[in-house]
Amino acid sequence: MRYAIISDIHGNLAALEKVLERIDREKCDKTVCLGDIVGYGPFPNECVALVKKNCDFCLMGNHDHAALDLTDAAYFNTFAKMAIMWTRKALSKESKEFLAGLPLQKSENDILFVHATPCVPIEWEYVLSSFDAMQNFYCFNEPVCFVGHSHVPVVFSLGENKEISISRKESTELLQDNRYIINVGSVGQPRDGEPKSAFVLFDTDTQTHQLVRVEYDFQATQRAMLKFDLPLFLVERLAHGQ
Ligand code: ZN
Repeated sequence: MRYAIISDIHGNLAALEKVLERIDREKCDKTVCLGDIVGYGPFPNECVALVKKNCDFCLMGNHDHAALDLTDAAYFNTFAKMAIMWTRKALSKESKEFLAGLPLQKSENDILFVHATPCVPIEWEYVLSSFDAMQNFYCFNEPVCFVGHSHVPVVFSLGENKEISISRKESTELLQDNRYIINVGSVGQPRDGEPKSAFVLFDTDTQTHQLVRVEYDFQATQRAMLKFDLPLFLVERLAHGQ
């Protein structure tokens, strides 16, 4: 089984279209979205429609949750909050209905999928360090867990010696006796210093993870954001991948 795993689209339609084109060429069996379809970007409804059409399943992200008024916007920083307020107004009834039906996590084929953390998905915490990863390895039983949320692709591996190693390599062959937490990066707002969209291909037969980067017209997204008066900070970060 060959999975394409995407996350954190954030209303960036130009990015999502390019990523879906690439996934189509990769001949995957399943496309999975780990959430945050909306928030920050200018095309929330269009992105919801594309995810609905192209993904086998999608999970709830913290921005999706906040756009439905289920998470207090006070939890977010100023710019994110402004974008959430804009998104709440922009979302159609149909988009809201789709977002409201998204689950927090899903397990299949010995893989756990979740937006934020396996321990308490609804608290929207991050897996950023070995310490965070160690705590979270105790909270699930599958050999591998895919997460999004930080917008930074990374592979945490728990060895038989109970030590954690961190890898940012583009491809990893998973070891049978290790366990993994893998962040797939972000389609619509990468934050690892690389403006290209990120997503992951995972082959369950060969147990191989591959990080894919896709160039897209970020200036098209920036122009739309300016047109809708979204915060300049959010517009500018797309050019720097930060
Ligand atoms: Zn996000």
